[in-house]
Order: sequence, then structure tokens, then C-alpha cells
Amino acid sequence: MTGDAPSAGTGSPAGVSPAAGPVPSARPASPDETPRPYRPGELALSAEEMRAAGHHAVDLVVQRLCTAADGPPHAVAGPAELQTLLGEPLPEDGGDLTGLLDHIAQDVLPLGIRFDHPRCFAFVPTTGNYPAVLADLLSTAHLSVPGAWLVGSGPTRVELTALDWLKELLGLPGHWGGLFVSGGSVANLTALAAARDHHLGGDLTGARLYCSTQAHPSVARAVHLLGLGRDQLVALEPDAGQRLDPRDLAARLDADLGAGLRPFAVVATVGTTGTGAVDPVTDLARLCRRHGLWLHVDGAHGAAFALSARGHGLRDALGHADSLTFDPHKWLFQPYETGCVLVRDPELLRATFRMARHHLDTGYLHPAQARHDEVNLDDLGPQQSRGLRALKVWLSLKTFGAAAFRRAVDHGLRLSDHAAARITAHPDLDLTSTPGLGILTFRCRPPGSPTDPAAVDRLQQSVSDAVRATGEALLLTTRVRGRTVLRMCTINPATTTADIDATLALVARAAREAEPPRNISDRT
Ligand SMILES: *Cc1c(COP(=O)(O)O)cnc(C)c1O
Repeated sequence: MTGDAPSAGTGSPAGVSPAAGPVPSARPASPDETPRPYRPGELALSAEEMRAAGHHAVDLVVQRLCTAADGPPHAVAGPAELQTLLGEPLPEDGGDLTGLLDHIAQDVLPLGIRFDHPRCFAFVPTTGNYPAVLADLLSTAHLSVPGAWLVGSGPTRVELTALDWLKELLGLPGHWGGLFVSGGSVANLTALAAARDHHLGGDLTGARLYCSTQAHPSVARAVHLLGLGRDQLVALEPDAGQRLDPRDLAARLDADLGAGLRPFAVVATVGTTGTGAVDPVTDLARLCRRHGLWLHVDGAHGAAFALSARGHGLRDALGHADSLTFDPHKWLFQPYETGCVLVRDPELLRATFRMARHHLDTGYLHPAQARHDEVNLDDLGPQQSRGLRALKVWLSLKTFGAAAFRRAVDHGLRLSDHAAARITAHPDLDLTSTPGLGILTFRCRPPGSPTDPAAVDRLQQSVSDAVRATGEALLLTTRVRGRTVLRMCTINPATTTADIDATLALVARAAREAEPPRNISDRT
């Protein structure tokens, strides 16, 4: 960048020239004006300035991480308020970086769900971790690209090692391969693209892919992006435990085959987002083998169950799949965007994604072709330039050790056991699904509560709202078999049984204090 800079070779760090007072305005020149040329160093800071701002940023990070339990688990501002705060014109002239960091860290970034708050039970919370924060700092500074071996051999090897460790944690055979992606949605898309190409080639007519209605919506989005129509995704009603029923699937497969359709893949969910249900992977794998179908397991949240002592059976089951989605930014305590896709035969990813397959004139890529046992990870997925997401996993596993992660997963399961026992014992609360994988759903039924289903639904929503309004805890609702229920995901390792008890007490109180229930239907 500074090859033509007069300061090059003068002893100052490359690309850094001393800050030179306010830079004259660089507003786009009008046609009759000559724009002032770039002055070396305009897009850099002095080493001293970088250190000062950097130390300040680390202070802000440590402050953030050390106060996770302070304040409410949720903060929100309205669009008008945020328009006032952030709807600024393009800043033609620069400002003070340290002040900007303060502004963002104090006024903007806290507006949202505080996923690491020990009483945040919404969605699938993650905690992130400090080594991962530093991993992003370092890999961003190094412009690390684990794309082609030539471009980033060190980063590529970090990613391969992190993938090996994930496979070991999940009990997957060593010959599986894959890559890090932004999250479960892109992991599902990536795996299903390989399944489509492998089984269907270029002909999508009559193709069918199967899942339960409890599968994640990213499966349906992937189907759409892969060029399949709405009717080509068959979403079956789940069994009483919210699981895809292999007998129902078998019957539907027979019917579809009989009708001349072309079933090619099944998506089994390990840990549905709604209730944490686990589809019977081993039985589904047997069915898929019989019919020559691809089995994709969406374990974005639930694959981490395989780390726990009681999840040992899942380790064997996962190995029967053809591909697996796993989100370390869920139950492996990583920050966003740390997702991962793993497949039994990584050559099938290469067959779909490798650059050379796409017939454009890309001579400039020839120097980066992988030779011998070099690996170009950009041949395995949709991105060419890609960040070193894997370093977060690598650095946090090296810092804390895998055993600590396993214990943290067990902790989340024990919290969910504890919550389930409390709910079962409480006269006003009823479980509405079998607690699985750290996710519980339940309903409030205080004395004299309504019997009208719509009124019961409204009560659950108002309890969720009331608890949120206290600023003490956050639990949201979901729908189970068409009814509104409360939902908790208890996987934060900083959460204690006291946090669970306090939250359930808030729920029970909110339910008793709710507007006098009326047994009227939704008609108004
Ligand atoms: C969260 C989740 C996804 C989507 O993952 P993102 O990381 O949000 O893209 C997909 N499937 C399941 C089962 C999930 O829980």
C-alpha cells in the first residue's frame, strides 16, 4: 500500500507515518477542481495511536465480559431513537478512534439481547469467550485467508486442526472433512448442495427432500436457493415427541417412489430449535441406506450433546450420516459467526464447489492450485476469500482444554434437569415437551386460569412480556402443537440453579399477577 510512500524505508513501521494534524477535507471534487492526491499514511495510525486505541478497546472488552450479569438481559431502542443516534451523513473527514470506540461500546452495541447474561434463556444463547475475541483480532490484523494453500497455509492448517478436534469431540471418523462457515444456515445449504449434485446431477425434475415440520427454516431456504420448488420439500408432521417418524417417512417414500418421484435426501434434526427434540438418526440412516438417500443431520445446536457423558449414543449415530451441520457459536460457546459443515466424503464438497469446475477464464487462479497434499479450502464451499473462523475454536480449546468444554455442556444439561424438576413440582407450571438438549417448554396454569386455548396462549405471551419488563430475565415463547408456550434454553455455563429458580419464581408471579383471565375466544 505504501510502496511509493516517501516515508518507506525511513525506519517507521511499514505503512505508518506520523499523524499529521487534521486532514484537509476530501469531499469529492467538482469537475473543474483537481482532487488532492492521497497522502501517504492517511489510512493508517501511528504505532502509538494504535496501541492507545487498542489498549482502550481491550479495556472495553474486559469490562463487557466481566459485567455479563449486570443490567438486564435485553435492551432495545426504537427505530426513531436509533435514527437520531446513528442516521448520520457519510463522514468525509475522520475523527478520534478512541472516542468512537467508546461511543459504539457504550451507546450502540449493548442494544440487543445480551446472550451471555446468565438469565438469558432466549433462542439458543452463546457466551462467546475471550480467547475467541483475541483470535478475531489477530486473524483480522494478519488478513488471514484459509482459502488456498498458497494464500494462507498457516491459517489453512489451523482450520484443518480445529476441524479434526471438532470431529474428535463429536465422535466422527477422521476421514470426514469440511470447513467452517458463517453458521448453520450456510452449513445446511452447503451440505444440501453437495447432496443435490451427487444424487441428481443437473436434473431436478421430480426430486424430493424430506424433513419434519420441526426442521429449521434454513432447510427450506436452502431448498429454494438450490433451485428446488416448494413442493419438492416434504415436511412431515412429527410424532408425539416432535421427532421425524421413520415409519411415516418410509410410507411417504414408498408412495413417492410409486408415483415416479425421485427422493434424494433426508434432513434429520438433532436438537430442534423449538423443543430440543432429536430425530432418530440411526433408524433414519438405515432407511436412507435402504433407499440410497443422502442423510443430512442438522445438529447446529444439538450435535454438542455428543460431548456430554449422557450423549455418548449420539456419537455413534452421527457417524451414520452423510453430512452434519454444527454451530460452535451455539453450544460450544463461540462468538458469531462460527458454524461448521462436515461430510463423510469431502470429495463430494469438492465436486460441487471446486473453482476449476466452473468454466470461466480464471488464469489468475492457476498459481494458487493445490499441489500434492496441499488443501484449498475454498474448493469445499461457496466462499473464496474467507476469514479464519477456526482460530476462535483453536485458541479457546487450547486455552481452556476440551475437558472444560465437556463439563460446560454437562452443566447446561444439569440446569435443564433442575428446571424440569422445578416445573414438574410447581402447581402452576406444566412441561409441554420432554426436555431435551438444554431446551424446555412449559406453560403457566395459575389457579382460576382460563380454559379457552386462545386465552391460555395470551397468558403465556403476557408472562414472557412481564418477565422481560422486569429486566431480570429473558425467556420467549414458541409454539408447540399449535399452542403458545414458554421456552428456556439453559446452556450458559455461567448460569446457576439459583438463576433458574429466580426466573421460574418470576414466571409464576407474573402468571398470578396477569390480567384477570377471561374465557373468551379471539373474536372481538
Ligand atoms: C440455529 C440453527 C440453525 C441456523 O443456524 P445459524 O447459525 O443461525 O445460521 C439451523 N438449524 C438449527 C437446528 C439451528 O438450531
